[in-house]
Amino acid sequence: MVKELELTLRPQEAAESALLRKAVAEKAGVSEKEITEVRIVRRSIDARGRLPKVLLRVNAYTGERPEYRYESEPRYGDVSGGREVCIVGAGPAGLFAALRLIEAGMKPVILERGKEVSERKRDIALLNRNVSLDPESNYCYGEGGAGTFSDGKLFTRSKKRGNTQRILETLHRHGAQDEILYEAHPHIGTDRLPEVIKRMRETITGCGGEMHFGCRVTELLTEGNAVRGVRCANGDLHEAEEVILACGHSARDIYRMLVRQGIRVEAKGFAMGVRVEHPQELIDSIQYHSRVRDKYLPAATYNLVTQVDGRGVYSFCMCPGGHIVPSATGEKQIVVNGMSASHRSSPFANSGIVVELHPEDLTEYAEHGELCGLQFQEDLERLAYTNNGGGLQTAPAQRLADFVRGRLSPTLPESSYLPGLISSPLHFWLPERIGKRLREGFAAFDRKMRGFVTNEAVAVGVESRSSSPVRIPRDAESMEHVQVSGLYPCGEGSGYAGGITSSAMDGEKCAEAIARKYGVEL
Ligand SMILES: Cc1cc2nc3c(=O)[nH]c(=O)nc-3n(C[C@H](O)[C@H](O)[C@H](O)COP(=O)(O)OP(=O)(O)OC[C@H]3O[C@@H](n4cnc5c(N)ncnc54)[C@H](O)[C@@H]3O)c2cc1C
Repeated sequence: MVKELELTLRPQEAAESALLRKAVAEKAGVSEKEITEVRIVRRSIDARGRLPKVLLRVNAYTGERPEYRYESEPRYGDVSGGREVCIVGAGPAGLFAALRLIEAGMKPVILERGKEVSERKRDIALLNRNVSLDPESNYCYGEGGAGTFSDGKLFTRSKKRGNTQRILETLHRHGAQDEILYEAHPHIGTDRLPEVIKRMRETITGCGGEMHFGCRVTELLTEGNAVRGVRCANGDLHEAEEVILACGHSARDIYRMLVRQGIRVEAKGFAMGVRVEHPQELIDSIQYHSRVRDKYLPAATYNLVTQVDGRGVYSFCMCPGGHIVPSATGEKQIVVNGMSASHRSSPFANSGIVVELHPEDLTEYAEHGELCGLQFQEDLERLAYTNNGGGLQTAPAQRLADFVRGRLSPTLPESSYLPGLISSPLHFWLPERIGKRLREGFAAFDRKMRGFVTNEAVAVGVESRSSSPVRIPRDAESMEHVQVSGLYPCGEGSGYAGGITSSAMDGEKCAEAIARKYGVEL
């Protein structure tokens, strides 16, 4: 028999199985002996009171212990003789599209400009040591895409766009930890993601799908208004009547290729700003009301949003117990982002704090047409580079209170950012439309979270790749490009998704649309 229960517990009670069982038995009105298993269905933290509580939804079983059952049951059969579908990019969108195509009996052929995840690790190590940046193998490019060496946060606001549970279960089947199936804010961690990605590749290739690394797509082959395949920089041609374009939003060369080939793209709203890092202890003390975090509580997070001069200013991709990482993809760019390991145990808490921008804000970029936002993004990344004191990936930074007050920081605090920081007047060189809104936004955040604006925290430039400044328009039903049949703009780069889970769901949706086209219902 199973009883569904809601419990509000002290962190220790929720963390230790003996205490949890006791609390569950009391709530269920049965003896502890009768309970054969307690399965957590949902866990979240309520930190509003003086003492934080853990909110649990559990299934308490009495009698025979049942097998855990996934909600989804994918069938990955042999597709080596199936219809070939070309997928550009092996990020979450591309990989999940491939798995869903396999379920439809079709053969995915993935073309990825970067390297396999194990080789990619070496390039990332060189980048972190500030030795070299490989423009084809970095935090954004390579197997698993931008999601591999990331925080691996898996929550999304866009649940209605697809089946979140199936995405989580697929990751779990490929080695992600049990907790992602019930945490309110599931998270894998950068230490575990590479193995999960590798296993996904093994499923794809084990079924007869293909994955080609070092294949940078440079041209779409078309006939009339229909796609016929792609050409890669190494000269390879891949013919296909369906091409899923899942190359992420860092692939500026792809947007430029589309414009060159007369394939419609549109400018869209996006967001840019800085990454802010605090000592984790300080965020814990603000959120949990105590300088020393209860050892049973996770590193505290925050989620901040305000409006300044008609534009949103908000925290983005907050990484408790994490690291700031260099996520540029080309020479003479500084781009920062955040990640964390599964235990989130670093002494730092970082988050992007970004300002919403609309294409109509960028009047001086009008000559760049649909690519106005992309050009603005690129220019700001170069500006950050020119302010980095000549170090390869050394990032310009300013203490947070100094930034808000418009003062240069004579020294900088300790930081998790491995290539190193250099003091720079961000308040001076960030474009007014970003810098001013950030300063006012930070002041508003400090009113919501007293102590947020402090010189113990540092603002690092620039957080420029939080969302795509370009959309590749597609039909809502067929998912095909509005102009080119057989072309499926997909994932974050299409401008219709953002983040790991929503990009993965978008990959599935594109695959399902192709399956439908050939009469296969999934
Ligand atoms: C450091 C970091 C941390 C992040 N943390 C999180 C997080 O915790 N949670 C979250 O939800 N999101 C996070 N994100 C964002 C998330 O990774 C992306 O939203 C997601 O990966 C987008 O998936 P995608 O498949 O659409 O594109 P991508 O992951 O960008 O993958 C695109 C792939 O296409 C390849 N490609 C590009 N151009 C070409 C070409 N011309 N030919 C062939 N291949 C090409 C790229 O090499 C890449 O592998 C993070 C991003 C970064 C950089």
